[in-house]
Amino acid sequence: MADSAEIPQLSDRLRAILPSGCAGNRLLAALRPADLAALAPHLSSAELATGQVLFDAGQDVVTTTLPCYGSMVSLLVITRDGDEIEVASIGREGAVGGIVSAGFKPAYGRALVRIPGPAMTIPTARLEEAKARSPALADLFARYADVLLAQMMQSSACNALHSIDQRMCRWLLSTHDRANDATIRLTQETLADMLGVQRTTVTAVAKALQDEGLIRTGRGRIEIVDRPRLERRACECHGQIEAHFQRMLPEVAE
Ligand SMILES: [Zn+2]
Repeated sequence: MADSAEIPQLSDRLRAILPSGCAGNRLLAALRPADLAALAPHLSSAELATGQVLFDAGQDVVTTTLPCYGSMVSLLVITRDGDEIEVASIGREGAVGGIVSAGFKPAYGRALVRIPGPAMTIPTARLEEAKARSPALADLFARYADVLLAQMMQSSACNALHSIDQRMCRWLLSTHDRANDATIRLTQETLADMLGVQRTTVTAVAKALQDEGLIRTGRGRIEIVDRPRLERRACECHGQIEAHFQRMLPEVAE
């Protein structure tokens, strides 16, 4: 596993005060050394566990979490009946908590860890102070807030218009991008919850994709076998969001 030593432009002094693992988050790795130095004393390493709730609807957001390497967090809307639907997923390319509202406001939805792994956390108030002092830092996070909103806009169109088959392929692509691994560790039950459909529907779609040689499923895991064909089978949404990300945040895109 890499650490902050992988960010090439750092001075030895800055390297020494950064928590190890910072380079695992692309937003942090894209910061100017001066901005990273301003954040460094307030950054902490954390280990995210599957099912961990970072914040829930109505709670004040006081911590911003930056997933590292292959960890992933879902932003969910929860209905009165307790159904949940994913509106955004955030991995090492981003941050969750107070990104659009600048923190201290009640959260609208729930942030739930889907794929466990390391993360950096920072008190949202400290991040806001640093943004107030550095236009470059504020600009990076404002552009990230834009792509996060774009992802939510695309998700609402996707949920309304695209077939479950296409949506599942889209989800597999975006998770594959972040997982650092061809194997995604997730049960079909969880996938059904995220897509807002019955478990039997996910099982049927997964079987069809497996029969066609696109994926291989096992207990609690889905392996991507043929990425190009999966891309052709998915709706346009993944490609659209990726293209917007590349335009808005070229220094963060991989
Ligand atoms: Zn779609």
